[in-house]
Amino acid sequence: MSYIVYDKDCHFPIQNLPYGVFSTAENAQHRIGVAIGNKILDLSVVKDLFNGPIMSECNHVFSETTLNSFMALGKPAWQEARVTLTKLLSADEPTLRDNSTLRSQAFVDQDKATMHLPARIGDYTDFYSSRYHATNVGTMFRGKDNALQPNWRHLPVGYHGRASSVVISGTPLKRPCGQQKAEDKPPVLGACKLMDFELEMAFFTGPGNKLGEPIAIDKAQDHIFGCVVMNDWSARDIQKWEYVPLGPFLAKNFGTSISPWIVTMEALAPYTVANEAQDPKPLPYLYHEDDYSFDINLSVKLKGDGMSEGKVVSNSNAKYLYWTMKQQLAHHSVTGCNIQPGDLLGSGTISGPDPTSLGCMLELSWKGTREVDLGNGVTRKFLKDNDEVILSGYCQGDGFKVGFGECSGKILPANPLP
Ligand code: CA
Repeated sequence: MSYIVYDKDCHFPIQNLPYGVFSTAENAQHRIGVAIGNKILDLSVVKDLFNGPIMSECNHVFSETTLNSFMALGKPAWQEARVTLTKLLSADEPTLRDNSTLRSQAFVDQDKATMHLPARIGDYTDFYSSRYHATNVGTMFRGKDNALQPNWRHLPVGYHGRASSVVISGTPLKRPCGQQKAEDKPPVLGACKLMDFELEMAFFTGPGNKLGEPIAIDKAQDHIFGCVVMNDWSARDIQKWEYVPLGPFLAKNFGTSISPWIVTMEALAPYTVANEAQDPKPLPYLYHEDDYSFDINLSVKLKGDGMSEGKVVSNSNAKYLYWTMKQQLAHHSVTGCNIQPGDLLGSGTISGPDPTSLGCMLELSWKGTREVDLGNGVTRKFLKDNDEVILSGYCQGDGFKVGFGECSGKILPANPLP
């Protein structure tokens, strides 16, 4: 229990303690904070209270404007910081509770804060790790018998994404323009007509590896700091024409939204569930026996222009991922590719086994062949201008939720064509 009061549906109880970066109207400096209830604990104010053996030497990382340096410290430092935070916020701990001056400086109301990207994201990679999603998309474009490409069950397929256009939840994005081609017509430049979202999770990396030195699968968990909810916005018509033979390019590079609070792997550990069965058994560099899948309830709410409330169009779960984060990281670095603190690695669209758990409009509208009902006569096949997409996720604890908050974004009209 904490002396900060919140209800059982709050995403940020003392069992969570996610990290983010924020500023306020009074203080434009970007600061590192931890969400607790509807407040933020400003770590730049309380950094001297981190008095464990590691963090007492390294608490300057909490004066920085991003989490990269804290991420680089590694698991023992993260665990020690969590012990300190849990103690500082506990109901029976007077240090902060009873110091009214410090308390008034250290806590900020979340609704008075502006959230920023939590890290300088050097590199962003996106995988394609839900078997349900890959099977659905493959079935649409190649038929049921060839749904999964021959490599899919042997390695976590992915592509190098664009880090510069990763944005924080709430940032509106313009509908992209790009080259498209209809059947039997020459290609044209136009505003995307098949605008889509993708329901994903992503993880931030901690300590990196040296160039040329892969991360072993049994060490991969030491390089994973925590997770966010991610929307990999996708322009399906641009994607369809451009993706052969090198994969997604402009269809994905105009914006990727993430939720602002990074939920640490320590906070997610109690929600570990069995990994999806993998057949065939992966090669040894990808094989691990320990469970590293997580029971995270995910939802997508779509709010059309003029709708007062959004409509939930999908309920999925992170446990449906076939490839684990450890496998993604071991695979990414097997060549010796160097991962750096604050890199962002996305899961790929997380679809589940049934029609209510599909993670993008491409699947929900089955390639535009059926309408998705938003209520009151409003329907969608793909996103219209001014549509807002709100992703959310949480783990259900015993009487509390370990949540991610929201990852929202609105699609604005396209620029005039060049
Ligand atoms: Ca994706």
